[in-house]
Amino acid sequence: MKRALIVGGGIIGTMHAVLAAEKGLEVIHLERDMKPQSASVRNFGLIWVSGRLAGTELDLALRARELWGKIGGKAEIGFRANGSLTVAQNDDEYTVMQEAASMADADLRGFKVLDRNQTIALEPELAGNYRGSLQCTTDAAVEPSLLLGGLREYLKSFPGYTWIPEFEAVDFYHDDNGNHVTDISGRKYSGDYLAVCAGAAHKGFIEEHLEKAPLRKVRLQMAATAPLGATLGHSLADADSLRYYPAFKDLSLDRLGAQGSIATEYKMQLLLVQRLDGTMTIGDTHEYAEPFTHELHEAPYDHLYSVMKNIFGRDVPRIERRWDGVYSQSTSTDIYLRKTIAPGAEIVTGGGGRGNTLSPAIAEETVNQWSL
Ligand SMILES: Cc1cc2nc3c(=O)[nH]c(=O)nc-3n(C[C@H](O)[C@H](O)[C@H](O)COP(=O)(O)OP(=O)(O)OC[C@H]3O[C@@H](n4cnc5c(N)ncnc54)[C@H](O)[C@@H]3O)c2cc1C
Repeated sequence: MKRALIVGGGIIGTMHAVLAAEKGLEVIHLERDMKPQSASVRNFGLIWVSGRLAGTELDLALRARELWGKIGGKAEIGFRANGSLTVAQNDDEYTVMQEAASMADADLRGFKVLDRNQTIALEPELAGNYRGSLQCTTDAAVEPSLLLGGLREYLKSFPGYTWIPEFEAVDFYHDDNGNHVTDISGRKYSGDYLAVCAGAAHKGFIEEHLEKAPLRKVRLQMAATAPLGATLGHSLADADSLRYYPAFKDLSLDRLGAQGSIATEYKMQLLLVQRLDGTMTIGDTHEYAEPFTHELHEAPYDHLYSVMKNIFGRDVPRIERRWDGVYSQSTSTDIYLRKTIAPGAEIVTGGGGRGNTLSPAIAEETVNQWSL
């Protein structure tokens, strides 16, 4: 049996472990922390097909969505095919959503435009003063708090899988016996294949390979509210999301006008996912210039609250927790970064704000190259 070494216990590394183990490979899965605490546990848990660029990126997202459906049936990760509603607060936003629902690939994405009454019929909690919404039936969600642990629990059913936390890879070499990684104390693991899925950790032993790589880091601010006291059937977004997602780039976005000052300053959209315990994860902001501030700023949360109040038509539960997160994003036209560093050894990162969504399909592209 051939052996795969995977560095990184985030969603990209863990999906590599799942697909490699299912294929029949022995898997050694190395993670520097006791428990992963980076982007993959700080995100919304959205599987967001709706915003993906037409063509290869959408194809990859749809393949990922298919794989998520299968994995969600096998592992306790809180997977649900809940779909999403992107809410239009005025006629112009609604017109852009009507254009979205007429795009050539709208059916593939599961797009449908709903007026306010149709939206309320689907989602009675959305009783606010808005124009309508864009429904996307292919969007889905998982629980970030369950995801990585749930996948590792599933991986325990494969005798060839070994999880090794608190192993920080600091060196790598390749020789006739394969690929080898070591930690600072000299512990060494060897394998036929190596996937380094270190997320936004662009430094360390992979730094020399990423020196001129088209990658950047992005920092986001997030929060969780108290329970809503009702169950939402969908994840939600506001029309600012249309400005960020490449799927919509050819629509008449100038109709949206200028963003509000806080949303502009913090490069914001509203995304909202209700967790299984009734709380709501809300965000987000985008900070691109390093060094990032260490502070959580209050103004973005005030903005999110005013948008939410308008959509729900009532006060929404207070914020109970706040955090930030950083992801690695490809800045080239490549959807993510895949770089070969030796025969059978690759760095895989840079999935950006779609890294959770695409993770099983990205892992599949790696594992398809690995023979038994
Ligand atoms: C706030 C926020 C919200 C987001 N929301 C969404 C969303 O809803 N949907 C979506 O599709 N995407 C979302 N994303 C993006 C998504 O979370 C990331 O693209 C994805 O989690 C990246 O996964 P990863 O495994 O590459 O990185 P990470 O989750 O950062 O994992 C990398 C792991 O590698 C480990 N590691 C690093 N170096 C070493 C080393 N030398 N040795 C051993 N281990 C090492 C780290 O400790 C870490 O656990 C969001 C991101 C953020 C920050």
